[in-house]
Amino acid sequence: MAKAGTGSNIKPPQDLWLPAGLLFMGTLDHLFENNRTWAGQIRQRDPDFFLKLSRQQSPEYLWIGCSDSRVPANEIVGLLPGELFVHRNVANLVVHTDLNCLSVMQFAVDILKVRHIIVCGHYGCSGVWAALRQARIGLSDNWLRHVQDVRAKHGQRITGAPSEADSCDRLCELNVIEQVANVCQTTIVREAWERRQALAVHGWIYGLKDGLLRDLHTTVTAFPETFTAYQSAVSALT
Ligand code: ZN
Repeated sequence: MAKAGTGSNIKPPQDLWLPAGLLFMGTLDHLFENNRTWAGQIRQRDPDFFLKLSRQQSPEYLWIGCSDSRVPANEIVGLLPGELFVHRNVANLVVHTDLNCLSVMQFAVDILKVRHIIVCGHYGCSGVWAALRQARIGLSDNWLRHVQDVRAKHGQRITGAPSEADSCDRLCELNVIEQVANVCQTTIVREAWERRQALAVHGWIYGLKDGLLRDLHTTVTAFPETFTAYQSAVSALT
């Protein structure tokens, strides 16, 4: 096992010429320092915390959120390590052929037996902005095509908003509602419900400007509820 806190101690001699990028890469000591402080604070509250956690995890929630650095999953819901199983990608998408997301979901539902799947989007999402403007940003365009599909599906609901910022907010909300429906239609979730496993799927959105979560009221606890929850959540936005 690597010694804690020594990951970036190797530094080039001062007189050795190196490209600026290589010198820059060796200076993450502050993150190790932060890590020691964080671990110390947790151990102060519960000396056996990490020991207990190393033996097993039993999170009750699976979080599917955006990769955006401003939306740290555990922190915004006040949960400790071990309490939240997390999958994040650009624009919090649940794509039926994304084996990464599906594998996380299958592990969470079948093995960890989480009781809640939370799809959490956020206002001001850069991925959603790019999809709204049909901006060309590179490879990600192909991933964000799924958000453009949401935009095309809901047309006037989005373009009829008073401003572009409002259109973006609306697309962020609709994107979450669509992804909740996608979660509910996976074989993983449907089979869990078929065997009467307690499992609820929720759609939330986070405000970058106030740090608060909002429930989009699209919670589903059994497959037959999927369509009505979707319809009422979409209608509530208009
Ligand atoms: Zn985002």
